[in-house]
Amino acid sequence: MQRRSPIRKCVGCGDRRDKIELLRIVNNKGEIIIDPGGKLPGRGAYLCPNMDCLEKAVSKNKLSDALKFEISDEIYEKISEEIKHD
Ligand SMILES: [Zn+2]
Repeated sequence: MQRRSPIRKCVGCGDRRDKIELLRIVNNKGEIIIDPGGKLPGRGAYLCPNMDCLEKAVSKNKLSDALKFEISDEIYEKISEEIKHD
């Protein structure tokens, strides 16, 4: 049986991929949380789990636009740690 998962767009490279392949980042009432399960409420952005896409998303302000939140160095570090752990 084939199961289709929702398609989401990476804010870094712009590629469309299965939601499960992407890292979800959520602005949860002013706190930026990495949400691997894709379950948390709030404004979310999707990112391929690699540093290239994180760099692109941050340098072009796409991540901050998507989340309506400024991406500080601290948040950047948090996301890059998550990517490296995967
Ligand atoms: Zn990407």
